[in-house]
Amino acid sequence: MSSSLFALEYLLFTPATPKNDAIPLIFAFPNEYTVGITSLGYQIVWSTLTMRDDLEVSRLFTDIRETLPRQAEILGFSVSWELDYVNILNLLESLNIPIRAHQRQHNHPIVFGGGPVLTANPEPFAEFFDVILLGDGENLLGNFIDAYKEVRNADRKTQLIALAQVPGIYIPSLYQVEYHSSDGAIKSIQPISSTIPAVVQKQTYRGNTLSASTVVTEKAAWENIFMVEVVRSCPEMCRFCLASYLTLPFRTASLEGSLIPAIERGLQVTNRLGLLGASVTQHPEFHELLDYINQPKYDDVRLSIASVRTNTVTLELAQTLAKRDTKSLTIAVESGSEKVRRIINKKLEQEDIIQAAINAKSGGLSGLKLYGMVGIPGEEESDLDATVAMMKVIKKAAPGLRLTLGCSSFVPKAHTPFQWYGVNKQAEKRLQFLQKQLKPQGIDFRPESYNWSIIQALISRGDRRISKLLELTRSFGDSLGSYKRAFKELKGQLPDLNFYVYDQWSDEQILPWHHLQAALPQSTLLKHLGEAQSLMKSSSELILN
Ligand code: SF4
Repeated sequence: MSSSLFALEYLLFTPATPKNDAIPLIFAFPNEYTVGITSLGYQIVWSTLTMRDDLEVSRLFTDIRETLPRQAEILGFSVSWELDYVNILNLLESLNIPIRAHQRQHNHPIVFGGGPVLTANPEPFAEFFDVILLGDGENLLGNFIDAYKEVRNADRKTQLIALAQVPGIYIPSLYQVEYHSSDGAIKSIQPISSTIPAVVQKQTYRGNTLSASTVVTEKAAWENIFMVEVVRSCPEMCRFCLASYLTLPFRTASLEGSLIPAIERGLQVTNRLGLLGASVTQHPEFHELLDYINQPKYDDVRLSIASVRTNTVTLELAQTLAKRDTKSLTIAVESGSEKVRRIINKKLEQEDIIQAAINAKSGGLSGLKLYGMVGIPGEEESDLDATVAMMKVIKKAAPGLRLTLGCSSFVPKAHTPFQWYGVNKQAEKRLQFLQKQLKPQGIDFRPESYNWSIIQALISRGDRRISKLLELTRSFGDSLGSYKRAFKELKGQLPDLNFYVYDQWSDEQILPWHHLQAALPQSTLLKHLGEAQSLMKSSSELILN
């Protein structure tokens, strides 16, 4: 079955013919083929590697694989979902590679990982990888392979020390973490020698040609989709948002030099186009892009847009989407409370939200999904009433439009101003409250699992002691109960679940990612946090008065 799936791929690049001494490399996605091949990041890294004649690349998914080399020198993983770590460990075992980096010998491949999960906080996975690539792959990936070639025949330790000199390459085993006690907070994180950089800087690509699909296949999760990255990062800087803070600055693909040529290439082989990015409609030439897609020659093109800022839902956008087979649109509003939106820096007025719904309806869309969050720092119960009231107003303003409120619980993310806050223990109750209030109004309420938020928070604020917890949990199952059981078994060896998930951390505390520098320094994050906290303070003073 495997080869038949690969045979259905249409490649938009030309793979190189590997030279005789090419490095055997396996590039894996730790999930099924359908999921992996729909990841633009996976496609790009795979094609970049495959276009080099000094590499012989084979792909590996959990369900299918290309013919693998007998002795791979490098094994890479693209990680875009936290819980895929289970599949990473399973794949390592199936290849007879020790799952812990320190147990690997010279005859084992160098195991590297990259992607959004590892760039945000690699520490819970630190023990499983020899090398972690932090940030944009554009230059980093080539620099990694070039540096490896220089030390290809050296011993493993020499290889790792040499790779650690490359900006953006993080070798977890070359950093020593000390704790105040075995179940206490971190005391210090230091490189093991003065030749290793004390801080690894996440890499940022600054060109104006962004990514586009290199493979189109009917087996992708969105059949035959051709994906184009329109923007990278988001300039809005909502204070909880990883998609913005981790990847700043906001970058846009050039319309003439990048987007149009890519779309022309892709639409020769398919009629399904996906525009990707955290904030697609904020591209400065988004109107021109829409006009370009609206040409008669693209009349049969089906268009999907990843994310739309609420105040950019114009009538024209809704009409274009409706004509292109999109029935509904998702906008992130986070909360119906103006106070909460101000705390998180969401620059959005209630009128913008109502207008978006009116435009969506008049443009011919049949549904609007709003995305919200509960348990945001500073949120009080009255703020939930505001969310309920807002949904009622929208329903009245756009009758007949199918309304959905998807809702998650706030999860702290590394490198954001809210990284010091824990999950709000009231979040589960608040989700239930919204459910109870909205259902009788005919508004579809779709809460994200609260337990899943807890697991996400654990991984997002975990340090490297979590590696052994993850390894143990794998044998218990993937429920929150399995994590709790693993915490019990490891009691004394690491802090408890509350510490990672619920506690508000002091800004004096050494963070697990202290030695990994993202877009903004801690002092700037603290300044943004301070602004949010003064808004929280002034709103509670208003209530008291
Ligand atoms: S608008 Fe959306 S993507 Fe942008 S910072 Fe806010 S939540 Fe993140």
